[in-house]
Amino acid sequence: MSDRYEIAIVGAGAVGLAAGVGFARAGRRVAVVGTDGARRDGRTVALMETSLQVLERIDLRVLVEDNGAPLIYLRIIDDTGRLLRAPPVTFDSAEIGLSAFGINVESAALVDLIAAEAAKTAGLVRICDNAAAIEQSRIVLADGSFVKADLLIGADGRNSLVRKAAGIDTKEWTYDQTAVTAIFAHDRSHRDTSTEFHTSEGPFTLVPLPGKRSSLVWLCKPARAARLMALDDIDFARAVEDQAQSMLGAMRLDGPRGAVPMGGISVHDVIAPGVALAGEAAHVFPPIGAQGLNLGLRDVADLLEAFSNGVSETGFARYRKGRLNDIAFRTNAVDALNRSLLAGFLPIDAARSMGLTLLGSIGPLRRFVMRQGLGSSR
Ligand SMILES: Cc1cc2nc3c(=O)[nH]c(=O)nc-3n(C[C@H](O)[C@H](O)[C@H](O)COP(=O)(O)OP(=O)(O)OC[C@H]3O[C@@H](n4cnc5c(N)ncnc54)[C@H](O)[C@@H]3O)c2cc1C
Repeated sequence: MSDRYEIAIVGAGAVGLAAGVGFARAGRRVAVVGTDGARRDGRTVALMETSLQVLERIDLRVLVEDNGAPLIYLRIIDDTGRLLRAPPVTFDSAEIGLSAFGINVESAALVDLIAAEAAKTAGLVRICDNAAAIEQSRIVLADGSFVKADLLIGADGRNSLVRKAAGIDTKEWTYDQTAVTAIFAHDRSHRDTSTEFHTSEGPFTLVPLPGKRSSLVWLCKPARAARLMALDDIDFARAVEDQAQSMLGAMRLDGPRGAVPMGGISVHDVIAPGVALAGEAAHVFPPIGAQGLNLGLRDVADLLEAFSNGVSETGFARYRKGRLNDIAFRTNAVDALNRSLLAGFLPIDAARSMGLTLLGSIGPLRRFVMRQGLGSSR
């Protein structure tokens, strides 16, 4: 048995589902292939204003705003304990004319919310099965049936089958780090402030959720991550509270926790004949500065634009032109910042600490960096 669509998307994570809803709401016939795509590991995503604008275009913005917490202030604290340390830097969204930099929402909740919208969207067919193979722009499902499409979008994450089948080469690397993720309830208000402690093992970040709740992303050595994951809930919460210098008062685990080994993937191209890649199928890097899904949603925006008049060679060329620089710039910037923290080498410490000090004191530089962080200056 075989079904034909104009567009077929492999992967029902946030990127695949958002692209599916976007194309279907623009009147296109689209299939999204994949089982439940939510990662239930305590991970949250901070979606910046530019991503919210992408979601607004496909009528998903209100959904995110109603289920997340606004990030009004971003604070960076140099907690490297090294000789050259910068004073804390706080960015206020009002400085660049915004009421908030973005919204932080539980990753699994976001996928569930978009999936529920997808189920209500005419023109979008959900095929709740995984792709077993890809053969010449044809998706082979586990039961042996096929899905054919003029445009096949690989939104199937870091180990993308679509990418491999299309023969798109990658560069892959690892960091000596694991991201420990969890959600906490706490006694004190987070005051709408995301706080990033820069430690010598990587950033330790607490990001606001609705009420007196926050999410944790703690990039640390794999051995420390293993020790943290082995603790019971009470000792784990205490370790996090200590690392946060009790900034939020007493902390209690309030959801699942997870540990993600850190690495990066960059692709040599985002297109191949009949194929386009989006989200983590096209770029993976550590969660520093909340860039990953924000970049993935810019992939979605560019896909919708490039193929707005149908599937054509011009559309593929346009998508490639829009994506390659943006992806390379974000991947390199996150990599450089992460390595500068890990280096422990005096000249690099000096550059990092001077950079943070300058950010704290020079208004135009602060505003430039804030806009870059939002992904708006491309
Ligand atoms: C600790 C941590 C914190 C993060 N915080 C932020 C943040 O604050 N802000 C931000 O913007 N980003 C953040 N990110 C990045 C963000 O989580 C990712 O960019 C995003 O989840 C990627 O979504 P995706 O849909 O591309 O991929 P995925 O979420 O990996 O989805 C891919 C889907 O494809 C499915 N799939 C795989 N193979 C097949 C197949 N053969 N057939 C069908 N389906 C298949 C998978 O099951 C999965 O459901 C963070 C990442 C980490 C690790």
